[in-house]
Amino acid sequence: MLKPSWIASANDPQCPFPLNNLPFGVFSNGGAPRCATAIGDKVLDLAALEAANLLPACGFDEPALNGFMAKGPEAWQAVRDGLTRLLADDAANQDSRAMVTAALHDAAEVQLHLPFQVSEYTDFYAGKQHATNVGTMFRGPENALPPNWLHIPIGYNGRASTVVVSGTDIRRPLGQTKAPDAALPSFGPCQRLDIELEMGAVVGLPSPMGQPVSVDEADAMIFGYVLLNDWSARDIQAWEYQPLGPFQAKAFATTISPWVVTKAALEPFRCATPEREKPLLPHLQDTSPMLYDIELGVSMTAKGGAPSVICQTNYRHMYYSAAQQLAHHSSSGCAMRTGDLLGSGTISGPEKHQFGSLLELTWGGKEPLTLDDGQTRRFIEDGDTLALHGHAQGEGYRVGFGSCKGSILPALEVEA
Ligand code: MN
Repeated sequence: MLKPSWIASANDPQCPFPLNNLPFGVFSNGGAPRCATAIGDKVLDLAALEAANLLPACGFDEPALNGFMAKGPEAWQAVRDGLTRLLADDAANQDSRAMVTAALHDAAEVQLHLPFQVSEYTDFYAGKQHATNVGTMFRGPENALPPNWLHIPIGYNGRASTVVVSGTDIRRPLGQTKAPDAALPSFGPCQRLDIELEMGAVVGLPSPMGQPVSVDEADAMIFGYVLLNDWSARDIQAWEYQPLGPFQAKAFATTISPWVVTKAALEPFRCATPEREKPLLPHLQDTSPMLYDIELGVSMTAKGGAPSVICQTNYRHMYYSAAQQLAHHSSSGCAMRTGDLLGSGTISGPEKHQFGSLLELTWGGKEPLTLDDGQTRRFIEDGDTLALHGHAQGEGYRVGFGSCKGSILPALEVEA
């Protein structure tokens, strides 16, 4: 049920940011960036509320959420409860409304920043349909799923240095590639630039080196979730990926949405992982529903054209939850830190329109997409814009993530 707010725009059933949501982010409006929440079509300055003693002191006058995230689940809940009291449509908060109003800004007039300092970024490969599709294209249908796939969530260590907030332009990467019929590799602009539709789990509580965490402990450590586009250079990837996995093909950019949606907001949308095809070992077994029913989509705007929806899928299609990924990540004794970001892996459903990358949607470029404006695309061209969107649909309300988009700039010139 919608929790009504005295901020009227938050009560629209289509609004991504009702009182039920209360995501966390970082904004500025000419001054220093500081922490905020989104409510309706407004951004609410949490540093101002903290200074007015309307919220517990959590270090909101900072350009990143890390300090607040490190405080743990009790502090997260106390702030959520405090905001709910201040913003609910009941008489109890009449006295504080003037102070809250003074801390509100029109969302259209502020700048949103990377919501937390990304400590490290790990990307997984935990969607079975995606792994099957890509494996089929790269290695043939009989070797599509590697032998370890049904036993561990496969991942690789990505780069935190190039994780950027939605709206940041992305320079087409340069790299080394080798066409199948070429004698030698060459260096130049990526020719097969792609997206990957993913969710990112944001680690709030750290874990010490040498100490594995259980799936339940891992779930408790997670602060919230963002949309994540794991931009991918498929031609660079195909040449470099064996035997250590993707490297430069993924290192040039990862875009996330500006709001971290908390586990508390997503609680009504928990769902179970799909049936296990092989039993998992005890340290990775599901203990309770830890995936979420989140409707996801991708729209593509070819240069000079209009947006077309090219994919519609759901987070519940993942084979492994973020908690299972985090438990696996720590299982060797790897320390996890506040601000670690875990990419889910590309989220593809079983149907073709549910595929979360162009590689799959065009089947390696063999079946071009025709967009609503008549333009066709195999991969991303310069000037194109790609946007991920997502929300959990409740009864009469939705919990949204905001936009996760980026446009492609031409590659730098390479000297011949
Ligand atoms: Mn990925």
